[in-house]
Amino acid sequence: MSTRNKIHLREDQLPEAWYNILPHLPNQPAPALNPQTLQPVGPADLEPIFPLEVIRQEYSPDVWVPIPEPVREVYKLWRPTPLFRARGLEKALDTPAAIYYKYEGGSPSGSHKPNTAVPQAYYNQQQGVKRITTETGAGQWGCALAFASQHFGLTCEIYMVKVSYEQKPYRRVLMNTWGADVYPSPSNRTESGRRILAADPDCAGSLGIAISEAVELAAQSPDTKYSLGSVLNHVLMHQTVIGQECIKQLDEENIIPDIVIAPFGGGSNFAGISFPFLHMNLTKGTNIRCIAAEPTSCPKLTRGVFRYDFGDTAGFTPLLPMYTLGHDFVPARIHAGGLRYHGAGAIVSQLLKDKLIEAQAVDQISAFESGVLFARTEGIIPAPEANHGIAVAISEAKKAKEEGRKKTILFNLCGHGHFDMSSYEAYFSGKLESHELSQAEIDEAIGKLHTPEVPAQ
Ligand SMILES: *Cc1c(COP(=O)(O)O)cnc(C)c1O
Repeated sequence: MSTRNKIHLREDQLPEAWYNILPHLPNQPAPALNPQTLQPVGPADLEPIFPLEVIRQEYSPDVWVPIPEPVREVYKLWRPTPLFRARGLEKALDTPAAIYYKYEGGSPSGSHKPNTAVPQAYYNQQQGVKRITTETGAGQWGCALAFASQHFGLTCEIYMVKVSYEQKPYRRVLMNTWGADVYPSPSNRTESGRRILAADPDCAGSLGIAISEAVELAAQSPDTKYSLGSVLNHVLMHQTVIGQECIKQLDEENIIPDIVIAPFGGGSNFAGISFPFLHMNLTKGTNIRCIAAEPTSCPKLTRGVFRYDFGDTAGFTPLLPMYTLGHDFVPARIHAGGLRYHGAGAIVSQLLKDKLIEAQAVDQISAFESGVLFARTEGIIPAPEANHGIAVAISEAKKAKEEGRKKTILFNLCGHGHFDMSSYEAYFSGKLESHELSQAEIDEAIGKLHTPEVPAQ
């Protein structure tokens, strides 16, 4: 039995290509639809807002997509990331299971998000784009894109939901430090923002509104493009460096994990760690369980419907086939902001529908309880989102104990929680609330959906 605590890879072991799971899916996801015509959205429809290479990757039939050398060079600022054996946690749980975690919190912005922000900024720069726009809620995505844009000499304009802009100044200042311009949304810089402010000057903003502002600016000028930090196929693919590194790291110990776990917002870090293992399931006959951990306050995977829905609240985006609670479902203000999204990406939704992955919902109180146990036994203070994955890992380790089985459990520690200490404070002072939705609330949210059904395959 190995006694190693962490497994590092050399820089020359950094993956050379991203893994595209699309060609290996037993059933292809239904196409995205134009909401007006209900016709499939083709690559040309996306050209006003995304650079060509990103669009090509969104529809790519290639299993391996090479990572450009300039992107690998930036990745090397923090990649390969370490894989840790959670010996302290195993001991506290007195479990026969071996628990490993991949730590993505050592990136410049403190989460997995730069894994896609860097290539997206690079492809924009290659195409001669001068300015990138995006939206951000709590600020994890805005920080990642600000860092990446700065690196490739692009102007980065970020529309930050107004409540977060006012209540969470530190991530905003991080974005400024990397040279980005951050505006509270709704702003008076766009038509969509001005229209909303005219009706309600004190509007607190929402991600849906911020997306509308960022997309409007990109659609208006040829030197400006928009960038998204989750959900879409190319974003999920960029994150697969995570799982590919894990395979090499566990291979050094001759281990294939039994269970792979990650928290789930739109699906990008879950895809990042699990798709390379699903590749083994789909092509090599392994039977690795991949579990997405979502909050009970926003349970689209465990309690939502599989249906066409919009990506944003306002209904501007194409219709995507997804597990959803409805695009105007407003989740409770839980402390894991990154998991408060109504839907799931098309690929992860198809995988769940085909029962190739699993999902579990975790209440935020039990998530924080797990996160604090982790911090006390392993040291690192996890992001509130990551705590949901830790809770599922702990519950699987307890099951292994009941069954008396030596399983290997791997989870993604997708970010650190250093800018989320007010959430920990709320947990310690007993101010966190449970958010179990009643069936009536779920039915009401889903009942409002008037979008098309996904045709049966
Ligand atoms: C954005 C974010 C998430 C949720 O997004 P996914 O696309 O599902 O990965 C989870 N954890 C952290 C730390 C994040 O920043």
